Order: sequence, then C-alpha cells, then structure tokens
Amino acid sequence: MHILDIFRKHRTTFSFEFFPPKSDDAAEELFVTIAELQALRPSFVSVTYGAGGSTRDRTHDLVVRIALGGDPPRERPNYDRSQDAFRYAEDLVRFIRSRPNARRGRRSRLGRTPDPRGFGIGVAGFPEGHPATPNRFKEMENLKRKVDAGADYICTQLFFDNRDFYDFRERCDLAGIRVPIVAGIMPITTKSGMERMAELALGCRFPAALLRAIGRCGEDAAAVARVGVHWATEQCRDLLDNEVRGIHFYTLNRSHATRQIYGNLGVTDSAALRT
Ligand SMILES: Cc1cc2nc3c(=O)[nH]c(=O)nc-3n(C[C@H](O)[C@H](O)[C@H](O)COP(=O)(O)OP(=O)(O)OC[C@H]3O[C@@H](n4cnc5c(N)ncnc54)[C@H](O)[C@@H]3O)c2cc1C
Repeated sequence: MHILDIFRKHRTTFSFEFFPPKSDDAAEELFVTIAELQALRPSFVSVTYGAGGSTRDRTHDLVVRIALGGDPPRERPNYDRSQDAFRYAEDLVRFIRSRPNARRGRRSRLGRTPDPRGFGIGVAGFPEGHPATPNRFKEMENLKRKVDAGADYICTQLFFDNRDFYDFRERCDLAGIRVPIVAGIMPITTKSGMERMAELALGCRFPAALLRAIGRCGEDAAAVARVGVHWATEQCRDLLDNEVRGIHFYTLNRSHATRQIYGNLGVTDSAALRT
C-alpha cells in the first residue's frame, strides 16, 4: 500500500519506528517487540538507516553509495559532509522521484507491479529548528524546497513541548507546505536515555516542568519511567485534541512504553484512537 493511500484512509496515522538490531539476540528481542506492538494495529512502521554509521554495512552497496548523509557517525566526530553523494535531503528526494523504474509499472522480480506513483517519501521536520540552521527563515525555505522536490509527508524530530509542534505546523502552513505533518514522540524511560536523546536529537529542549517532574523521582528508576510515559501520554492526548495528522512513536525497539501510552489513553489499538 502506498503511503498516500494510508494518509487518505486514516484521518490520523499511528506508526512505530524501529532500528536494525546489531546482534542475533537483539534481533530475537526485536521480533518479540514487533509481535507485541502488532496488537496495537499501527498504520505503518519505519526502520532507521544508519546512513553514516556501522549499520549501513549491512545494506546493499549501491544504497550506501547513493545514501543521504543522515546523522553523522558518532565514532567519526569530524565527518566530512562534502564526501556525501547528496548534499541535502532535497537532492535525494528529487533523485528518487526522477527514477524511471518508479513510473514504468514493470513487474518486479517478486511479481508485483510497482505503484505508478513511485516510492512514498517522508522527509524530516524539526519543530524546534534544524540543528544545522541558525537562520529560521532560510530553514523554512529549505524545508519547502525539500517537500516540493517530491515528499509525500513530513515526520518530525522528537519534541517535549507541543507548542513547538503547533507553531511549526503553522509556519509550514504559512510557507505553503500542504503535506501531512506527523509528530514524533519519544517517551523518556530512563535518565541515561534522556542524555542520549539530548545527544541524538540535537537542539531538543527539555521543558522546566518536565525536568522538575523527573528531578522529583530522585534515583527511583521506575518512577522516572512512569513520569516519562505520563508526559508522553499527555502530549499524545493534546495532539489528538488538536487534530494531529499522525503520531510516530520512537520505540527504541521496546514495546512497553508505547503500550503503556495506549493503555493510559484508554484504548487497546490504533483504530480506537482515531474516533
Ligand atoms: C524523523 C527523523 C528520522 C530520521 N531518520 C534517520 C535515519 O534513519 N538515519 C539517519 O542517518 N538519519 C536520520 N535522521 C536524520 C536526518 O536524516 C538528517 O538530519 C540528515 O542529515 C539531513 O537531512 P535533513 O532532512 O535533516 O536536512 P536537509 O534538508 O538535508 O538540510 C540539512 C541542512 O542544510 C540546510 N539546507 C537544505 N537545503 C539547502 C540548500 N539548498 N542550500 C543551503 N542549505 C540547505 C538545511 O536548512 C539544514 O540546515 C532522521 C531525522 C528525523 C527528524
């Protein structure tokens, strides 16, 4: 099913992100997680691609050669972006859209006829600002170009204050960006996880109220997880009340927090969240 059909069919989409497991044991665990999350009946799932890091070694050589810079590899802090085949995401989007195979409707080796609309393409959005762009006017211009190059939807970086998301959505609207904007949500489950988030989602802001709530937990790890899931639940409830087009859960290959959020919202699957 093409992503456009999913957005057409679902007024609000609910989706889960996974990352490629690094060992056989981790793969086993991931399949347990996937089975548990399947019961929530997501609209779609995504799998991250370690564009500059070690996990890309498992991906086809060609994909590696054409891949967008993506997150710079953590083990190479002075990574030289000028080596990337595509300087900006916009270039990759335009390249994918231009591929003739996507349009010809030839049957693939699996016997399927490719969708004439070609690949469904999602691009990244940054409610709190792109970490690499100090100029927020230019940033919106760049985002608009990236979408106009052929994106079907935007998925945002994680955020903890919904006002940042709503303002981003309005700025997109003012810029004439009309594709669905899906909100990225990552519940805090541990204090060390928070530190990793700050490192991975550069520029992401932890509101004072959240920091106070986590601070009250002291060294009680279970309390931190409860507070983190409660905060994310409230974010989701508020997003649903404000007609969010989709919520994308960064699961970190674990099912517990996402299932807890669904439970706190009083539902057992995504279909019930749409009503
Ligand atoms: C939801 C989400 C999922 C992600 N998943 C992955 C993943 O799986 N693997 C991974 O490696 N990374 C991932 N990332 C990181 C993302 O791929 C990186 O941010 C990527 O390096 C750059 O693409 P971009 O779309 O963020 O920015 P781009 O649009 O490429 O922009 C990068 C910078 O250049 C500026 N810019 C853009 N166009 C121009 C132009 N024409 N002239 C001058 N400046 C310009 C932008 O304003 C920005 O500052 C994800 C990010 C998000 C938010």
